[in-house]
Amino acid sequence: MTQAGEPTDGDARVQDLVARLGADIVRTSAEQREAYRYDWARDPDAQLPLAVVLPREVGQVQETMRWATEHGVVVVPRGAGSGLSGGASAQPDGIVLCLERMTTIEVDPATRTARAQAGALNVDIKKVAAKDGLWYPPDPSSYEISTIGGNVATNAGGLCCVKYGVTVDYIMGLQVVLADGRLIELGGPRIKDVAGLNLIKLLVGSEGTLGIVTQVLCRLVPKLAAPATLVAMFATVEDAARAVVATCATSRPSMVELMDNASINAVEDFQPMGLDRSVGAMLLIQSDAAGESRTLELQAAREACEQAAAQEIFETDDPAEGEMFVQARRAVFPAVERLGAYMLEDVGAPVPKLPELVGGVAAIAAEHDLRIVTVAHAGDGNAHPVIVYDATDADEKARAARAFTEIMALALSIGGTITGEHGIGRLKQPLLRNQLGDDVLDLQHAIRKVWDPDGLLNPGAGY
Ligand SMILES: Cc1cc2nc3c(=O)[nH]c(=O)nc-3n(C[C@H](O)[C@H](O)[C@H](O)COP(=O)(O)OP(=O)(O)OC[C@H]3O[C@@H](n4cnc5c(N)ncnc54)[C@H](O)[C@@H]3O)c2cc1C
Repeated sequence: MTQAGEPTDGDARVQDLVARLGADIVRTSAEQREAYRYDWARDPDAQLPLAVVLPREVGQVQETMRWATEHGVVVVPRGAGSGLSGGASAQPDGIVLCLERMTTIEVDPATRTARAQAGALNVDIKKVAAKDGLWYPPDPSSYEISTIGGNVATNAGGLCCVKYGVTVDYIMGLQVVLADGRLIELGGPRIKDVAGLNLIKLLVGSEGTLGIVTQVLCRLVPKLAAPATLVAMFATVEDAARAVVATCATSRPSMVELMDNASINAVEDFQPMGLDRSVGAMLLIQSDAAGESRTLELQAAREACEQAAAQEIFETDDPAEGEMFVQARRAVFPAVERLGAYMLEDVGAPVPKLPELVGGVAAIAAEHDLRIVTVAHAGDGNAHPVIVYDATDADEKARAARAFTEIMALALSIGGTITGEHGIGRLKQPLLRNQLGDDVLDLQHAIRKVWDPDGLLNPGAGY
């Protein structure tokens, strides 16, 4: 095995790959490999890969997988590396296969679809679709930096998913390279199709363990109307969560996001936006419904907030003003990143259990004397408590690790999930068996074996 820090072009396997694909596609220097070691989760166990492969076309992806099968080399698929669970952490003696250079997008207004190569950014699909008055709804906060291939592999959610659904609801077709290099096409621009098992739904959210997604056929909808916005301030996160439960029981807003006091302050420190630093929590609710329905939705949200003891409520029809609050919400992760080392949670629960979830997280923070910043896609019951800690303090690091596990256990105890949208990756496996049970997990391992008999695709990630 080549030592870390040295180029790998002396490795016979790498020489074979370069001979097949060329040096423009296969990167072997230590600097180039280092650049693809981590995703955003910065998994401490991530290693320097053997090589980084940056294909420009599907044939090169197939050739890479044929080479990997021949040499028994592990492959970590990668889009933009914005993943938050270590799913794209490079593995020792394995390659990273990154689709970032495959970015073409074609829209067909007649079928309301976009055909995008896997490396196309979510934001670019939205931009190209908008030229035909169409829209691709799934909007992870990372929509400007994440690829559609990564969104498919993680079944990404986002802010408007409370009304419009998550990635899987918009995938009509996939082109996938299998572990041995064969190419398969699934689905098509057909609204109805029940021929055989739905392998598209199996692949969406499979975290790079079943095949390499090279092209995606996305369902588009008519461009969404500009929303009206309601912002409410609360003394506690539990009050804000109670308002969410009441709002979602009676209406269907297009956004229901929650920021706690710590996340408001992190954003204000990062880029001041005039948010009230003193409140316990802020709710951001939007409605893009038409006419009377919009009025009724915002009225229902206002009543729910008032009943949950909101301290202040503000409404605006001005899309620019509303967007400013959305930007504040999207700024939470970049803002928290500056605070030091962190462990990012992604737990979910049935919406009526949201007060127990966020209240329980606050109790865990107090018990372990930790700073936990909580932001939530609250209308989906999906919370992101971010545990910030001092990496040089061994005791605090250990308490942070305990809190990370306890938050997942809390979610399971109230009928929730250990991951709502970021995936299991390499960081969330300890409690997966507790959630799924032996029979379901064994079945998933058996399915994986059928797709990837030699265990080459993203080993150690997912289920
Ligand atoms: C600031 C910030 C905000 C975020 N907000 C959200 C949010 O609101 N909602 C949300 O769901 N996520 C969010 N994320 C997480 C992340 O952006 C998503 O998981 C995204 O879908 C990952 O896309 P990517 O292209 O970066 O994939 P990567 O990080 O490169 O990979 C993610 C996983 O997908 C696999 N993969 C990637 N491409 C392929 C492919 N072509 N074929 C097969 N497998 C592949 C990888 O092996 C890995 O397991 C956020 C991240 C950041 C940094």
